[in-house]
Amino acid sequence: MQPEYKTEEQKRAFYNSTAWRNKREDILERDNYECAWCKKDGGVTTKDHAILEVDHIFELEHYPKLALVDENLRVLCNMHHNMRHKRFQFAVRKKSKWDDERW
Ligand SMILES: [Zn+2]
Repeated sequence: MQPEYKTEEQKRAFYNSTAWRNKREDILERDNYECAWCKKDGGVTTKDHAILEVDHIFELEHYPKLALVDENLRVLCNMHHNMRHKRFQFAVRKKSKWDDERW
């Protein structure tokens, strides 16, 4: 029977399970302890720079069958993980561009 992860309690139980803890370690190792999004931006964020978390691409709550499927898991740094789940609002900061001043 497929378990459900809809309530906070169900989710907590999942994240505390040995199956998840082991899987989480596997994924961290698979992805070389690097945030996938930072990597895409050309940066390297490893466990030395940030807290790394393993993210469900298709969310646990809606896709319980994919809870422990490798292809559905990726490493994100704490910042990107929060951003992805919109746990807090990010102020959009534009990168200051180097403008040549021409007359
Ligand atoms: Zn990141």
